[in-house]
Amino acid sequence: MRPVNRGPLPTDASGNEINFKKYGDARGKLIERLGETCSYCEMHLDSSLAVEHVKPKKPEGSDENILERELDWYNFLLACVNCNSTKGKKDVIPDDYFWPDKDNTFRAFTYSEGGIITPYAELSVELQDKAKATIELTGLNKRPLNDPKASDRRWINRREVWDIAILARERLSRNDNDVFREQIVDTMTGHAYWSIWMTVFHDDPDMLQRFIKALAGTATDCFDEDGMALQRPGGQV
Ligand SMILES: [Zn+2]
Repeated sequence: MRPVNRGPLPTDASGNEINFKKYGDARGKLIERLGETCSYCEMHLDSSLAVEHVKPKKPEGSDENILERELDWYNFLLACVNCNSTKGKKDVIPDDYFWPDKDNTFRAFTYSEGGIITPYAELSVELQDKAKATIELTGLNKRPLNDPKASDRRWINRREVWDIAILARERLSRNDNDVFREQIVDTMTGHAYWSIWMTVFHDDPDMLQRFIKALAGTATDCFDEDGMALQRPGGQV
């Protein structure tokens, strides 16, 4: 899960902070800041990408929307319909999970062959439990098997992108040059799933740096100059 910086509350042309009247009005600014991908599964944006409330605007058992959550810039991320609907209205306790705007979520999970996401095994048991809870909260462990009509295509997409990234790495090893490296960055941008590319190219610091710089909103302070993931200041990982 790509760690992101949403940045401060956006301002208008006169430099005044924007008070969003409806949360949907923040969508454009969020895309500008965070790029066109789901903040959780990293699926590429389509028209269904929605403003996601980290703390749900109308949690289970609540009769009406909680205004300070509904319109709070710092409670917004972007989510695809699958992540959004899996997470649903569960009234989360933020500290029980990892969040891409607070933690270095790239350190929390391991991406492996076949697009599988698991808690990073080097974490403490407590942190692995939080990683597991985060995977379950967003449904990143869902694997609809042998169902070509499955509406949740996150795992299938990850599996495909994993193979594309492996192929790109093999081709690069045969024909390594700057132009091809840039082409791989373009391919990554087109297919999304940034964390998979960061994993497949984990031993290529130059490619890691290119991926880290390629997308809007990536929390660059979560990585050192070799592209290695660092503990996020103030984060749990
Ligand atoms: Zn998603």
